[in-house]
Amino acid sequence: MDRLHSDIQYLKGIGPERARAFARLGIQSVSQLLYTFPRDYEDRTRVVPLGETVLGDTCSVRLTVVSEPRAYRVRKGMELLKFRAADGAMNCEITYFNQKFLKDKFVPGQEYLFYGKIEGNFITRSMANPAFEPAAEGDAGGSIVPIYRLTAGLSQTVMRKSLREALKVAESEFHDPLPEDLRRDYDLCGSVFALENIHFPTDEKSLTPARRRMVFEEFFLLQLGMFTLKNRRRGQTPVRMSRNVTLDGFLSRLPFSLTGAQRRTLTECVDDLAGDEPMNRLVQGDVGSGKTVVAAGVAYYVVKNGYQAAMMVPTEILATQHFLNLAPLLDRCGIRTAVLTGSQPAATRRSILEQLASGEIDFVIGTHALLGEQVHFSRLGLIVTDEQHRFGVAQRAQLAAKGENPHVLVMSATPIPRTLALIIYGDLDVSVIDELPPGRQEIQTVGIDSSKRTRAYGYIRRELAAGRQAYIVCPLVEESETGDSDLHDVMQYSQTLQREVFPDFRVGFLHGRMKQADKDAIMADFVSNRIQVLVSTTVIEVGVDVKNATVMMIENAERFGLSALHQLRGRVGRGEHKSLCVLVSDSRNEKTVERLRTLCRTNDGFQIAEADLKLRGPGDFFGVRQHGLPALRIADMAGDMRILKEAQEAAADLLRRDPALEAPELLPLREKLEELFALEEGNFLN
Ligand code: ADP
Ligand code: MG
Repeated sequence: MDRLHSDIQYLKGIGPERARAFARLGIQSVSQLLYTFPRDYEDRTRVVPLGETVLGDTCSVRLTVVSEPRAYRVRKGMELLKFRAADGAMNCEITYFNQKFLKDKFVPGQEYLFYGKIEGNFITRSMANPAFEPAAEGDAGGSIVPIYRLTAGLSQTVMRKSLREALKVAESEFHDPLPEDLRRDYDLCGSVFALENIHFPTDEKSLTPARRRMVFEEFFLLQLGMFTLKNRRRGQTPVRMSRNVTLDGFLSRLPFSLTGAQRRTLTECVDDLAGDEPMNRLVQGDVGSGKTVVAAGVAYYVVKNGYQAAMMVPTEILATQHFLNLAPLLDRCGIRTAVLTGSQPAATRRSILEQLASGEIDFVIGTHALLGEQVHFSRLGLIVTDEQHRFGVAQRAQLAAKGENPHVLVMSATPIPRTLALIIYGDLDVSVIDELPPGRQEIQTVGIDSSKRTRAYGYIRRELAAGRQAYIVCPLVEESETGDSDLHDVMQYSQTLQREVFPDFRVGFLHGRMKQADKDAIMADFVSNRIQVLVSTTVIEVGVDVKNATVMMIENAERFGLSALHQLRGRVGRGEHKSLCVLVSDSRNEKTVERLRTLCRTNDGFQIAEADLKLRGPGDFFGVRQHGLPALRIADMAGDMRILKEAQEAAADLLRRDPALEAPELLPLREKLEELFALEEGNFLN
């Protein structure tokens, strides 16, 4: 029996109830438990003589219990266990709250190691709820103790005990997924050693190589998975495009000429289309760099080759906007364009579906509705996903499956450092639009607290008087969604604003819960300047393009991530007028303030993404998970860049030598890859 992948209940000490608690943390098998790494460690190895401890410091002290532990009942539901311990030079009062059962654990005259925060005064010390262990004779000190993320029904003690049990299983059954020669080449320790020392390091020295090994493994597997996917698409026969088709008809009808970066990207795409393999390209460009028109050009090329194109976007607002912008242009080029969303009337929808299936519609722009079962194409040659960070790998695959190896174009304004792009979009080639259309004005960004809000309104008023428009973003739709009265909500904010601040202008509101027709009407009113101030949730975060809007004011800015704020800011500064972004926040949290300051300092999406990475620290960068990839459990995308590069190199190297990973010694690796990627919807390794 495969004990590593058996139910966690198999482990000693875990019954059905604890198993349910583990399941809440996503841990169902012994193997999953082993890969649940500590979120932190307590270093109890530093044992300090009591007399030398600093008040407020957290450390280990070695003390002898000198008084019989006594339990007191202070009030209902509150019991104290108190006793004194000493190390010869000084006394320490030790208190445990509501842990009467510890009474028998402390024997007067015996020595213990206590770990915790030192409190007290000049003459005497005290500790509340310190961790403890009997000090074995001759024992040098405490250990480095792992701290895990917990849930109700699980304690650190249970976690640690269970992990010790799991490690016993690993010792006899674990097959290292990293082959031996690779470990040798990259100086990596074996997996069992790594697991043991990640969970229970004997000292700092053993933790470092253990961590390095697991970080490497994590990056390596992720990268290998992505490369495999890419290679699989490589071998396929694409929808054939002819080099005789030119873009002249499209370019000559554009109201502007393309930037150099747009032109280069379009050429790269067309080269892909006319090549021997399906295009699989990511176009990455900062907010406002003009990705849409590039996508339209690619669609033009595909349609002129006799195929259909589909573009999927994350919101109905965006679908409608793209359609309104592109349809007239494409229509003049003889391309029949339609929009498909989830909330269209049944009759409209039916007619569009029919025309898609018959091939009468050449180019369709739509939301997730495009993934619907009833959506069929007659000859789908290209799929485009706009704002890719909103979609998962699986959804892209689902849309692609509606044709036979259609070309794939992915557009993203969430700029990420190049190495990371390789991982997240590892299955794609990358084009970067690193140039903004001419005539754009730098957006100025200021951070204020709510005491200056009135002044900001004054600024907005002057802009409105000059004929411009403004967005105001609030985190909530309606009041008290969370019972948090500090948060602004769209409904109340827009009413107050209309009544008390801008009675002489029209204030509109927009949020995701509105009916599509209402959203469309509001957006149309804003585009035509019948509404001057639009109060909205982040539904306008992506893509919305109104050139006359020059102020973006964001309430409770502390509630949004850096990248989201950058996206929101990108809604202004789209025309010839000078634009301003106002971040309103009363937060005094140092990290938050620093985050907002980053945004005031730079408009460069790449720099912001890097800062975001650093500030967020380890963990799930930009929701790697959101992209449909396994989450990173230990690697830190910002801090472990060196290991990432090594792992990428190793993965590429291995695939060069053994593209299908067929060598017998790679079996554990193949199994691990399958386990990892099969967890996600749309198992793309098979
Ligand atoms: P994003 O890259 O954020 O999706 P869009 O495609 O929405 O940007 O383009 C932003 C705006 O810039 C649109 O109004 C678009 O018409 C305009 N635009 C795009 N390319 C150019 C260009 N080469 N010259 C002038 N304006 C352009
Ligand atoms: Mg866009």
